[in-house]
Amino acid sequence: MTARSMMPYVEGNSAIREMFEEGARMAAEYGAENVYDFSLGNPSVLAPEEVNKAIREIVEEEDSLMVHGYNTSNSGYEDVRTTVADHINRINGTSFGAENIIMTVGAASGLNVAIKTLVDPGEEILAFAPYFVEYGNYAANHGVSLRAVPANPEGRNGSEAFSPDIDAMSEMINEKTRAVIINSPNNPTGVIYSEGTIKRLAQVLREKSEEYGREIYIISDEPYRELAYDGAQVPYVTKYYDNTVVAYSWSKSLSLPGERIGYLVIPSEMADFENAVQAANIANRVLGYVNAPTLIQRVAARCIDCVTDIDAYDRNRKALYEGLTEAGYECTYPQGAFYLFVKTPIDDDKEFCAKAKEFNILVVPGSSFACPGYVRIAYCVSHDTIINSLPAFRKLRESLY
Ligand code: PLP
Repeated sequence: MTARSMMPYVEGNSAIREMFEEGARMAAEYGAENVYDFSLGNPSVLAPEEVNKAIREIVEEEDSLMVHGYNTSNSGYEDVRTTVADHINRINGTSFGAENIIMTVGAASGLNVAIKTLVDPGEEILAFAPYFVEYGNYAANHGVSLRAVPANPEGRNGSEAFSPDIDAMSEMINEKTRAVIINSPNNPTGVIYSEGTIKRLAQVLREKSEEYGREIYIISDEPYRELAYDGAQVPYVTKYYDNTVVAYSWSKSLSLPGERIGYLVIPSEMADFENAVQAANIANRVLGYVNAPTLIQRVAARCIDCVTDIDAYDRNRKALYEGLTEAGYECTYPQGAFYLFVKTPIDDDKEFCAKAKEFNILVVPGSSFACPGYVRIAYCVSHDTIINSLPAFRKLRESLY
């Protein structure tokens, strides 16, 4: 019999995954070219050739026992962590060393390690809606509850549309609040949080930490850091707030989601730094990740200066935004990541998704991101899929009136 603690997961199984499976079924029935599957954030750009070259070289040139062995600390290879720290410093003007980096099994494990390290069971984490659906599950893994700060679609108090509503967050903080998760560039809105927003967030959290006499951490989830368009800057949050942990991933920036590789940054300025780093190292082990994959740690270090072909996503972004806006949809212009967040022409986003399916369009309801009334379109697909889908989106909208 299934453990009772698993039943909420079984019942609330990810709508995104379900859609993805439905997409595969529809592709088999109608032909892949006639199905517009925008459900999954799986990169459509190939990993850079340097990645494959690095894999071949490492496997051929290095000691196989070392490459595939248990010979890394739970935090990862020291030289890899130094390479990562130097890279972050070069770009952001920070001063991290290997001691600030923990290699992880993608951002997903990094977030779990961060929560296990910083948040006690019974405490609370806040996340700004709309947010990545798994945050609630990750929090629950550690006996922690996640509370959603309501979405800010209009940009309350002069802030940008869908930027964090810091006033609302401030009102929600209580004696149990231990962390706030932020995600910029954002999944699902594509919004990049401005420096002003980060500064204000930091200021309020400093005040609240003082008021309650305990640290409130920022957990900054950054798998899309490199996917910023038009030269947009993504502020490095540790520069504004000491009690920040950054969870980074190469899943999107190098198109390696299946390889499961990322890292955590824990700044030396963080409260109780020595214990925090040690606890995170142990959390990596006891949660069962043990260490980030050894071969891919080495690959990531060799490819530290590589970036994905962001122009391909940019082309999709513009074509989709223009096409849908012209067809009468209300969209948030994405500054980063590879998602477009669209207001549904009818109130019920799930009903809209069901209607979209009749036109062979698969999109994810905003309710899956704690933001009903919208849908997420993942435009990490071929450019042809974008162009070919536009008449279907137009017909879908017309069918609703
Ligand atoms: N955080 C966000 C916002 C994501 O969109 C994803 C994946 O889509 C993750 C975390 C998990 O990424 P990873 O593959 O690095 O575990």
